[in-house]
Formats: sequence, structure tokens, C-alpha cells
Amino acid sequence: MEQKQDKLIVCPCCGSDACYESEFTTKDGNLKTWLCMTCGFTTNTTMTEDSDALKQTLELTAELIKDLRQDHQGLAWFPTAITMPEKGMIFPEPQTWGKRETDTETGETKETEYQDWGWTVVKAVDIPEEEQSKYPDPRNPGTFYKKRMDMKGKKRFLKLEFMDAAEELGMFEKWETSTKKYGPQIGSGGEYNDPNPSSSTK
Ligand SMILES: [Zn+2]
Repeated sequence: MEQKQDKLIVCPCCGSDACYESEFTTKDGNLKTWLCMTCGFTTNTTMTEDSDALKQTLELTAELIKDLRQDHQGLAWFPTAITMPEKGMIFPEPQTWGKRETDTETGETKETEYQDWGWTVVKAVDIPEEEQSKYPDPRNPGTFYKKRMDMKGKKRFLKLEFMDAAEELGMFEKWETSTKKYGPQIGSGGEYNDPNPSSSTK
């Protein structure tokens, strides 16, 4: 697989001009992928209506991600979910936000809450050596995880702050290599698809 030059296009989902278009040459021909750094939506040229790729994605994907689907020029777009075992995860999640409103008649300020989806960042943290025996790696019997996802230390970002969420995770230190290695990914369920299942019970 060979990657050609990336370029930035206007995102059909949110209208920002920070949508990365990458083109790959594979043995089956050309593949284009898109990932918007503002809204975090992603797609690729296989995600056409009625395609197997789209069917598979719909089978593996959490309801929230499916509900947020947008269709543009015949391609289905979904919010991405990124898992980097050494760094952490970013995934969309329903969240509760606070809003301060001032009553125009009484001048009274009150706090209200509203629900919307947003980005959650969970960082990978080191497991102390003496505790690693509690975290066996099911895919490699006899070996143990050295990192776990810190589910208690969630950081939240608004839905158009994907860039900040990615920065929080340190995705840009090796952005080039990490996109080649890990994604953009569609169809991961984020928290529902925890790569280190033992982490959430501790
Ligand atoms: Zn966008």
C-alpha cells in the first residue's frame, strides 16, 4: 500500500476546511479516506450505499455512532473512534454540559444542563510492574499488559473540538505514522470495544 500526498478539503459534514483527504494505492485500486479535524467525521471510498464495507460497519458500530451518520455524495460518514494502545482512545459519547443563562426580565443567572454528544479522551497509563500479572493479554497467552486505559480520568470535548481531543491524546506528535498505523478507523465502538477489557473493572 502506497500513500500519496494528503490534502485538506472543505468538510461536507461541518463546513470547516480542515478535512484531511488521503489517497492510497492498494492492490484493489485507489482508496481515498477522509478525516475531518474539526468534527471528527470520517469515511472512505468503500462506504457507498449497499456496500459490504458499510454493512460491516453498521454491524460492528455502537448505536450512537450509527445515529450520527451523515450521507454526502453517496458516501456514509461516521464520527471516528481511535484507539492507540500506547496513548489512549478518542470516541464519541453522549454527554451532559452545563450552560449559564441569564433571565432577561429578572436578571437572574441560572445554571441549566443540556445533553449532546461530544468527544471523550481516555489516556493509557502505566500499570505498575507488580500489578501487571492482573492484566493478562488474551490475544498473547503468557504475556501481560503494561498499559491500561484510565477510564476514571475521562476528558470531554465539544463535538466540534475533535482537534483539541486529538491534541490531548498526543496524536500529532507522530500524526503521519499514527494515521498510517491506526486509521482513521470507522466502526470501532470506543468504550464498548475496550481493547483492554480488564481495565474497566479496576
Ligand atoms: Zn467536519
